[in-house]
Amino acid sequence: HRVLLTGANGFIAQHILSQLLEAGFSVRAVARSQSKIDALKKSFSKYVDTPQLDFGVVPDITVPGAFDEVLVSDPPFDIVIHTASPFFLRPVASTVFLDPAIKGTTEILSGITRVAPTVKRVLVTSSFAAIVDFSANPISNPPKIYTRDDWNPTTYEQALATDNPNISYAASKSLAEKAAWDYVKEGKGNFELVTLNPPGVYGPLFDPSQIAKPEDLNTSTNIIYQTLLRPGLKSTDTVPPTFLYLWVDVRDLAQAHVVAATKPEAANQRWFVVAGDLSQQEMANYLREALPEKRDVIPIGEPEKTKKPEGFYGASAPETEQVLGIKYRSAEESIKDLAPQLVEIEKRA
Ligand code: NDP
Repeated sequence: HRVLLTGANGFIAQHILSQLLEAGFSVRAVARSQSKIDALKKSFSKYVDTPQLDFGVVPDITVPGAFDEVLVSDPPFDIVIHTASPFFLRPVASTVFLDPAIKGTTEILSGITRVAPTVKRVLVTSSFAAIVDFSANPISNPPKIYTRDDWNPTTYEQALATDNPNISYAASKSLAEKAAWDYVKEGKGNFELVTLNPPGVYGPLFDPSQIAKPEDLNTSTNIIYQTLLRPGLKSTDTVPPTFLYLWVDVRDLAQAHVVAATKPEAANQRWFVVAGDLSQQEMANYLREALPEKRDVIPIGEPEKTKKPEGFYGASAPETEQVLGIKYRSAEESIKDLAPQLVEIEKRA
């Protein structure tokens, strides 16, 4: 198999890249700049200058024909994995999320139709943000159980009007995913579409030596660092509220991508890749166990109170384990594998 992977330097995509290469796939890794490619080359030096790995640069994924050049390959691609999409939580104009998410997705699909007709399957990394309704009360009786049949209802107009980055980011993911399904429904794509919808993604960085300072951490990892480990915190501080209880380990999510890239039964479906609940308090507990040298920094909170409030929404996606065969890692393993990397990065800064 020959795979085009966008956003290849990202937190999740590097694990996808690593697992694809390990499994013997040949991959063209695409990023926004040569400097990001150079960093990838260091981390994946074992595969550089082998037929298994080459690179492409697409500086702006929103321009018409953005991917046309990198989509042409000999041997040709049969799989495309599109992960590139802005994810941060600073307040910005909504279009900063919406344009790259939506146009990036439609550009890669139309590029495939134009110049890469050999592509049989396209994976789009969507999100639980494309499933959840953030405008609903998170607590109800009975609790809302989200499944892959649910959709974030925010419209493009509502997303444009908000100045809340949580809402515009989430809408960018649901509107981009909808655009992909619409493209296929309209009969424009001669390929199978698969989307993957993870909630909070945590776990170790593929190569922590790439990260010069904590501010460069990807958003989901940075939330852990900023709320539980950054200098200035004290063990007597309160543990901040949980931003999102649902979570999955980055390595399990990468595996879901690799399986979904070829498994016949995975085609033309949305896969909700969710391991369960993980609270800020539970993260604090694991960090304190893993990092005794940080015991004066990591908030103790109320170590026994790790559960979400009664009636809080949850998730159900047994099909992901049954059909894709994913066995989820524990939150303890995930957080404890990340913990020493955060200290290493902090020391280097
Ligand atoms: P990263 O920030 O580590 O990776 C994001 C990737 O997308 C990077 O390659 C980045 O390039 C690229 N990108 C960001 N903005 C743009 C843009 N405007 N134009 C082109 N490329 C861009 O984050 P993750 O690995 O966490 O995210 C990967 C995917 O997973 C995203 O689609 C995200 O929405 C999704 N996701 C992540 C979750 C999480 O908890 N981490 C949860 C659910 C979904 P550059 O380095 O140049 O900025």
